[in-house]
Amino acid sequence: MRVAIIGAGAAGCFCAVNLKRRLPKCEIDIYEAGAKPLAKVAITGGGRCNLTNSWEGVKSLGQVYPRGERLMKRLFHQLDHQQTMDWWEKEGVRLVTQDDHCVFPASQDAMTIVNLLTANIKRLGIGLHLSHRVASIEHNGEYTINFNDEKLKPVTADTVVLTTGGHPKESGFDMLKPLELAIVPPVPSLFTFCIHDPALNALQGVVVEDTVASIAGTKFKAEGPLLITHWGMSGPAILKTSSQAARHLADNAYKANLLVDWWPAMSQDEVTAFLNKQVKTNGAKQVSTIAPPPLTHRHWTYLISRIGIIETKRWNEIGKKDLNRMVQLLKADTYAVDGKGQFKDEFVTCGGVALSELDPNTLECRSHPGLYFAGEVTDVDAVTGGFNLQAAWTMGYVVAQAVASK
Ligand SMILES: Cc1cc2nc3c(=O)[nH]c(=O)nc-3n(C[C@H](O)[C@H](O)[C@H](O)COP(=O)(O)OP(=O)(O)OC[C@H]3O[C@@H](n4cnc5c(N)ncnc54)[C@H](O)[C@@H]3O)c2cc1C
Repeated sequence: MRVAIIGAGAAGCFCAVNLKRRLPKCEIDIYEAGAKPLAKVAITGGGRCNLTNSWEGVKSLGQVYPRGERLMKRLFHQLDHQQTMDWWEKEGVRLVTQDDHCVFPASQDAMTIVNLLTANIKRLGIGLHLSHRVASIEHNGEYTINFNDEKLKPVTADTVVLTTGGHPKESGFDMLKPLELAIVPPVPSLFTFCIHDPALNALQGVVVEDTVASIAGTKFKAEGPLLITHWGMSGPAILKTSSQAARHLADNAYKANLLVDWWPAMSQDEVTAFLNKQVKTNGAKQVSTIAPPPLTHRHWTYLISRIGIIETKRWNEIGKKDLNRMVQLLKADTYAVDGKGQFKDEFVTCGGVALSELDPNTLECRSHPGLYFAGEVTDVDAVTGGFNLQAAWTMGYVVAQAVASK
């Protein structure tokens, strides 16, 4: 069996190693566009590689995989996060789980992961062809793979595994055109929000540990820490919301109303009671000096300024209308999002090869037997926390098992 794997990334390399171990006589060649294998993995997690998650904080798979929830649920029966951790530890990679449930190599160095996979590729005799950008794949009985560089002769294979990763533009999927597959239009996911408000922007660096962010008029919602930046807002709550709402925001030119609940631990009634208590017991004190517990004094002063309460106003000068508006500020503070900002630590593609094209047990293409897909090239992507790499490991592994069983 001659297997061609397109893309030496997380999914491609993991697939190659697992397949060769199961089927030592199988001829495997990896064709990689770049000059190095696993170049993206080398920069994951800020160079530390957040390779999976302990899953302790995961309440529902849909919150973690906005695209591909059902597929991942099924595939995790073959390789879940625990089995993935066991796999790496068996290879001698010691892992550590942070308080936020993210799992890293104990070396805190992504090169531990890169070097281990590359060493196995070499040792197992898997062909690794760098600087081989695939231009197109044709299927006429067998598969013919054509390269961009005309000096490189096309190659043929019985089985092709496509693991070319995400791409924010449709042109990134041009190589599949001859195969006429459905591609869900790609758009970026995991980005920050631009909010043009100089007073907010001046609060850059302020973090509120426990918030709920949502997009007004939609079901897109996420919880977690929120960071105010000099261009708007970032932090896990915002990144997760951007992931949930990736397509909705793209369709709306990244304009939306963002609602922030700054105090989700308290109900609306409890917040009202807290504010009423200040009116009764701290009437002579300035409103700005008694911030609700999750907020700093500076942040609270900014928030009340948004509803026209000046810093020197006292609690006993607060009327019912102002009180209601303060409750609104704390539970459903509204910001006009105008554009997406960068999140250079991680960005992924929402969209890709439509899941309807794939057999959900093997990831083999329904219309082209012998063609498999794994990783971010498919319409599967996750929020931050090691879940994207987990999808790449799981899918790469599933394809290896499926090809070996065939
Ligand atoms: C800066 C950054 C940090 C990240 N950090 C994390 C993290 O800590 N944890 C986490 O879970 N996720 C993280 N991610 C996301 C994660 O890296 C990806 O989801 C994951 O690498 C996807 O694996 P893959 O194998 O599908 O694609 P990739 O790892 O992107 O590999 C695809 C490979 O295919 C090659 N290729 C593309 N087109 C062609 C072609 N035409 N011909 C030949 N080869 C081609 C590419 O050069 C690349 O090497 C991060 C992403 C970024 C950008």
